[in-house]
Amino acid sequence: EALADAGPRPVATNNLEAFWMPFTANRQFKSAPRLLASAKDMHYVATDGRRILDATSGLWCVNAGHCRPKIVEAIQAQVAELDFAPTFQFGHPKAFELASRLAAMAPSGLDHVFFSNSGSEAVDTALKIALAYHRARGEGQRFRLIGRERGYHGVGFGGISVGGMVANRKTFGPGLPAVDHLRHTHDPERNAFSRGLPEHGAELADDLERMVALHGAETIAAVIVEPLAGSTGVLVPPKGYLERLRAICDRHGLLLIFDEVITGFGRLGAPFASERFGVTPDIMTTAKGVTNGTIPMGATLVSSAIYDAFMQGPENMIDLFHGYTYTGHPIACAAALATLDTYQAEGLLTRALQLETRWADAVHSLKGLPHVIDIRTLGLVAGIELEPIEGQPTARAFSAFRKAFDAGMMIRTTGDIIALSPPLIVSEAQIDEIVGTLADVIKSVA
Ligand code: PLP
Repeated sequence: EALADAGPRPVATNNLEAFWMPFTANRQFKSAPRLLASAKDMHYVATDGRRILDATSGLWCVNAGHCRPKIVEAIQAQVAELDFAPTFQFGHPKAFELASRLAAMAPSGLDHVFFSNSGSEAVDTALKIALAYHRARGEGQRFRLIGRERGYHGVGFGGISVGGMVANRKTFGPGLPAVDHLRHTHDPERNAFSRGLPEHGAELADDLERMVALHGAETIAAVIVEPLAGSTGVLVPPKGYLERLRAICDRHGLLLIFDEVITGFGRLGAPFASERFGVTPDIMTTAKGVTNGTIPMGATLVSSAIYDAFMQGPENMIDLFHGYTYTGHPIACAAALATLDTYQAEGLLTRALQLETRWADAVHSLKGLPHVIDIRTLGLVAGIELEPIEGQPTARAFSAFRKAFDAGMMIRTTGDIIALSPPLIVSEAQIDEIVGTLADVIKSVA
């Protein structure tokens, strides 16, 4: 009887049950799904044929807009020519070419690139390199990692341990040992409705001195922060904060890691946030925009000093016991090279700077609408914080999210914060459309 049952069973193609969706209320979604069928430039098309204006670049990744021809063609050509090549003890030219181009774009000194498949993996790679670097230099007692409250560094055990989004951590046990967290920098009492970097809060970086005093600098390997915290609701760094973190790291020999998974590739008006802010980390993580969201890829960039520390042993020894089957995957590399070409040809990596004032003017015009308690902007990013409905945190913003989709626009929410991050090709008319639609939506959830 068991054998008789073993054949394929008919599959209902419209059955939504089998896919356990990530970061989603599965039962709620499946009772009223939002399904996307295609995309082009600034728009998705839903399965019901409606055009949906993309005000979030998918998930902060489609920086050049959707289905861009050069990127599509490069992927199609690559899969027909070299579908896969190992990068353990082999290589293929595009992985080296891409690493060189990324190193050339990155702040000077970040000259070596380790590839992975996601932001989470780029973060795990960064944390492992930081620990192994100190050990390679004979300082293996530097095992402690410092993150920050409200930080998001993906969903690996490393990332959730140094991350500070409570819901992402609390279900999953103790995480990595020897982790501590700086306080977050969100201070609406002093900084509400800031345009650009908030005035107040540089002194919060001194938390790191407190941790040095508490744990001993000689036990701390690295500090990881997002230069601008995206997923936790667009927390813009206070003026002078990142500089101060950098100085404290230097004073005590700690590595500074910038997680630029969201801020990389033009989001803040420069290729990387570290360039915008003039603060260079020792390690930088990227993903998302590196391939314009088309093919999964992460990239961890490290300084020459770090790379060189691993190159001191015998030449026939593997220098880092770490890597993924798909490290430097040929299709991802081809997609990334075409993405960089597209960014360059269209000036997209600095376009957010040109649009910044226009964008901020438009978004800050929402001030005064019901329940809008804060608005913050930098580059082509905005966070609009709504007052929670009493006893129902997240409900107001989620209702706005659903209404926006019904009104033909994709936004993102976290808690009661709406985050906007449109593709860098957005037109001024589309900025007005985004803000106009959002104004109607916010009024409707009052
Ligand atoms: N780090 C940051 C700063 C992110 O914003 C994200 C994703 O949003 C990640 C890491 C994780 O990236 P992924 O979802 O590709 O693993």
